[in-house]
This record gives sequence, structure tokens and C-alpha cells, in this order.
Amino acid sequence: MIDGCGRTIDHLRLSLTDRCNLACRYCVPQNAPPCGEMIDENYAYELVRWLSTRHGIHHLRLTGGEPLLYPPLLGLIKRLSSLGSLREITLTTNAQALEKQAESLAAAGLSRVNISLDTMQADKFQSVTRGGVIDHTLRGIEAAVRCGLTPVKINVVAQRSFNDDEIADIAEWGLVLGCVVRFLEVMPIGPLAHVADKHLVPAAEILDKLEKRFTLKAIPGSIGQPATDYAVTGHGLRGVVGVIAPTTRPFCDRCRRIRITSNGKIVACVHDATSFDLTSCWNGTSLHVEDADKVLHRAVLAKPEVGPRKQSLNMVALGG
Ligand code: SAM
Repeated sequence: MIDGCGRTIDHLRLSLTDRCNLACRYCVPQNAPPCGEMIDENYAYELVRWLSTRHGIHHLRLTGGEPLLYPPLLGLIKRLSSLGSLREITLTTNAQALEKQAESLAAAGLSRVNISLDTMQADKFQSVTRGGVIDHTLRGIEAAVRCGLTPVKINVVAQRSFNDDEIADIAEWGLVLGCVVRFLEVMPIGPLAHVADKHLVPAAEILDKLEKRFTLKAIPGSIGQPATDYAVTGHGLRGVVGVIAPTTRPFCDRCRRIRITSNGKIVACVHDATSFDLTSCWNGTSLHVEDADKVLHRAVLAKPEVGPRKQSLNMVALGG
């Protein structure tokens, strides 16, 4: 599928629910109304079947909210993996509930996981997540590695005066476990819509902190895809770290994604709240493919060349 700017679109982020068991301060606004939207399992399956068999979407990321809170998750993954039209099914999670589910997720056909972890300190973790327990996430990461949901990618949102002093420590901890550790610049979305600059740790500074401890060599072909990955040596370690820099090194020209929210809307650009409703194409048992094609066509043609950075939705609703 080619968008209006000539970019190939072959990645889908599908949000299964906007419910989350954490409420990270940069993701969920204070006093946000409780969420609870869950996409119908059959609808989710039919959407992916349609996109992967008719429109060349071969990379699926299940997200939320918190996708591990979606009751039919295992059954859905089993059905999706037997489609045969997806190259990978991945999942983004806070891993609070992963330890017990990792083995069955791997057996169901999940390829790998991306896990959010912004600090190694229990009190800071509890504070930024508004109540999370770091040990649950750490045990979830270890279980994912053990069960072969690899490479496990650890996503760290770099935040000024919060974890900018921990960057090399988090990288080292993850590398010892054999994970890929990726640092993300904050985005002007949700609670950070108008204050992201205050919290931003630019990619150049992240790399500088990593280079003080390790030797980094950019991996050719990864540059801005959207992560730029680096082979790491030093401190007796080998592995990969990466930087995703939507603010200081935007990669809109290489964006290959669309999103579908848990209420069945296509969002073509993470920086733009414009959405295209697919719900009228679903009658409760089947997808009206010709109508859905028309909605998809409009969404993909409207995908902006450069993200306008006017996102009024929160990441938890958007499907981060
Ligand atoms: N609950 C899952 C998790 O924690 O990974 C999946 C959903 S969460 C919305 C997906 C990702 O969005 C997380 O890695 C989170 O850190 C990131 N995120 C949320 N708000 C963000 C912001 N304003 N800037 C950068 N990343 C953000």
C-alpha cells in the first residue's frame, strides 16, 4: 500500500483496549476519565485479515492501553498467527502482568515484545507510573527473555530531571539480559502536548551519555527507521542500543505505519488526531470489505507528509 507521499505502508499498530493498569504521568492526564473500551475480538481479527491479505500489512503490533488486560488476547494471537499473512506479531506492554503470560503468549505465536521501562529505581517507577511495581515489570522482562519473545526491546522514554542520569545504567542492565534497549524522545502528546520541550532529552545528549560508557557503531540500514540502532561494545558487553528521535530527528519521510484505535478508527499519523471511522463497515459478524477499502484509501491519502504535531488524543487512547 502506497500513501499520498509515495511511502510504503506495511505496519499496523492495533490498540486492543484503551484501559491501562498504570497511568504514566507523560501519557495519561491527571483526572482523565476511566477508560474501558475493548475492541471486539472477531472485529480485530477480521480487520487484520483484511489488511494483511488485501493491503500488504505484514507487521502487526498489538498495543493499548495495556494489551495484557485484553481478555481474548491469547485466542486472538493464535488466530492471527495461523493467518499466514503476517511476518511478525509483536506486542507493546508495561509487563506488569507479563511474567505469568509470557509462556502462553509465545506458544500462541507472538513473535516478540517491546517493554516500557523508564527507570530502574522502585520509588521513581511507582511515581512516574502512578502506582506501578517495578519488580513486576523486571520479572516480566526476564520471563519474556526466557520464553524466547526475543529480541526483547526495552523502551525508555528519556525525561529531563527524571531519568537523564540513568541512561547508561538502564542500557547496561538491559544489555546484560540480552535485550535491545531503545531510548525515545518525549513527544508533544497528551499531558506533554504543550510542555514537551521542558522534558525533552535530545537524541544527541542520549548518545553522548551512552558513549561515555560504551563504544557505539551505527548499524547501517537502521538509521531513522524509525530507530537508529548502534552495535555496542565495552564494559564486557555486546548488544544493541537504539535512539528514536521524533522531535530532533523526525522520520516522517520513512514512516510506514497506520494505527487502528480500540474504537475502530484509523489514525494515519501519530501527530494528527484526524481519524477515519471503520465501525460502519462492521455489522457484528463480518466486515464489508469494499466499504472498508474506501475508508482506508481516504485515510492513507490523508496521511500528512510531515506530522503536524497537533495531537489532541492521549497516547493511551491512540495506541502508542
Ligand atoms: N501499556 C503499554 C506500554 O506501557 O508500553 C502500551 C501502550 S503505551 C501508550 C506505548 C508507549 O507510548 C510506551 O512506551 C510509552 O512510554 C509511550 N508514550 C506515551 N506517551 C508518550 C509521550 N508523550 N512521548 C513519548 N512516548 C510516549
